[in-house]
Amino acid sequence: MAENSSTAGVSASESNPLNAQWFARGQAVTPGGVNSPVRAFGAVGGTPRFFVSGKGPYVTDADGKEYVDLVGSWGPAILGHAHPGVIEAVKMTASHGLSFGAPSPGEVQLAEEIVSRVDAVEKVRLVSSGTEATMSAIRLARGFTGRAKIVKFAGCYHGHGDSLLAAAGSGVATFGLPDSPGVTPSIAADTIVVPYNDLAAVERVFAEAGDQIAAIITEAVAANMGVVPPAPGFNAALASLCQANGALLIFDEVMTGFRVSRAGWYGVEAATEGWKPDLLTFGKVMGGGLPAAAFGGRADVMDHLAPIGPVYQAGTLSGNPVAVAAGLATLNHCDDALYAHLDSTAATVARLASEALSAEGVTHQMQTGGNLFSIFFTDEPVVDYAQAKAQEAWRYPPFFHSMLNAGVSLPPSVYESWFVSGAHDDRAIDRIAKALPAAAKAAAAASPTT
Ligand SMILES: *Cc1c(COP(=O)(O)O)cnc(C)c1O
Repeated sequence: MAENSSTAGVSASESNPLNAQWFARGQAVTPGGVNSPVRAFGAVGGTPRFFVSGKGPYVTDADGKEYVDLVGSWGPAILGHAHPGVIEAVKMTASHGLSFGAPSPGEVQLAEEIVSRVDAVEKVRLVSSGTEATMSAIRLARGFTGRAKIVKFAGCYHGHGDSLLAAAGSGVATFGLPDSPGVTPSIAADTIVVPYNDLAAVERVFAEAGDQIAAIITEAVAANMGVVPPAPGFNAALASLCQANGALLIFDEVMTGFRVSRAGWYGVEAATEGWKPDLLTFGKVMGGGLPAAAFGGRADVMDHLAPIGPVYQAGTLSGNPVAVAAGLATLNHCDDALYAHLDSTAATVARLASEALSAEGVTHQMQTGGNLFSIFFTDEPVVDYAQAKAQEAWRYPPFFHSMLNAGVSLPPSVYESWFVSGAHDDRAIDRIAKALPAAAKAAAAASPTT
C-alpha cells in the first residue's frame, strides 16, 4: 500500500539541497519536520518542498524552483497567491493594529457577508480554524438537544477534534492510523461511524438510538478521501431524518464553502432542492489564507451560545481584524465570473489528466464535486471510504513525483482533492498539460512493490 512505500516514485534526478536542509532542520525541532502531517510527503516519499513565495498560480521553493500550484493552501488561495487586493487589505488593516481582544467592525462585515451568501445561516460565530468550527458546532448541537451521540461518515474529515477523529479520511488514511491514540474510548463511544452514501445504515442507527443522537455531521461533498460526491438525494434525506428525530444536521463546508459556488455546496444543492441544514461550518476560503473560520445556522440554535445562551465557546483571536480583512477582501472577489473560471479550469485540468492516464491505459476514475476533483486508480465509481482505500494507491507516488519534477505541485496524497484558482490561466494549464504524459507513463509503469 502507498502508505508504507516511503520512497516510492522518488526520482534520482531530484536535487533539492535547500529544501532538504530545511527539512532536516525542521525534523530536529518539530515532529516529522512539519506542522500538519500530510506536508511531510509520507504517502509519496521524497523531500517536501519548502515554499518561500507564491504569485498567482505559481509557488517557488527554497531551491528557487517554480511550480504550478494545484494545492492552493488546501483551498484558501482561491484567487491565486498574493492577490493584490487581498495583500493590500491585509497591509492596511495590519498597520492599524493586529488584535484588540474586543469587537471590531470587520467581524460584523464578514458575518454579514456570510449570512447574505448562505440563507441557511441566520447567525454565525467566527473562530480561527475549521477544527474549532466543527468542535464548537458539535458542542452546540449537544447543548441544544441535550443528547450525547454524533453520527459521522467513514472517510469524512472534520478537523482533529477528539470526537470526530474516527475513520477520518485523508490525513489519517495516509498514515494508516485507524483511529488516533489519545482519543479515549469514552469519547469515541459517543461517535457512531457509518459508511458514506449508505442511507439505509443511517436509518438503522436512528431506529436503534434516534433519541440519543444530537447531530449528524457530514462533509457537504466528501473530499478528504479523494472527492466522493453525495448520491443524489443523500444529503436531503439526512436533513429529513434529523428533523424527524429531533437531531441537527451539521453541514461541514470548510472545504466547499465559498469555493464551489458563492454559497458553497449549499448553494449548489440544498438551496435548489429547498431544504436547509441546521448548522454549517466554514473555513479555508473564508480566511483568504489567514486563520479565520466560522460556524452558523438557525438563529434559535445559535442563540444557545454564550453570552446569551448557556453553551460556552470563546477565542482570544476569534474575529481577528487582519484575518477578517483577508477573508472579506477574498470574498469580495468571489463573484460569478470567478466561479465560472474555477469550474471551467477544473473541468479542463481534470479532462487533461484523465486523457493522459487513458492514453497510457491506466484504469482510473476522475471524480468531481463542483470544481473539486481527484483521481482514483480503480475501475468503478467510488461511493465510500472502503472503496477509496481499495484503489491502486501505489500508482500515485510516481505520478506525483513526475509532475513535481516537471514543475507541477499536486497534493502529496491520492486521498486529497486538487484545487484550482482564479489565477490559473492558459500558461499554467499548458504547463500542466505538458507534464501529464510522462506522469501517466510513470503511473502505468508503477507496481505495488516499487
Ligand atoms: C480542512 C477541513 C477541516 C479542518 O479545518 P482546519 O482549518 O484544518 O482545522 C474540517 N472539515 C473539512 C471538510 C475540511 O476540509
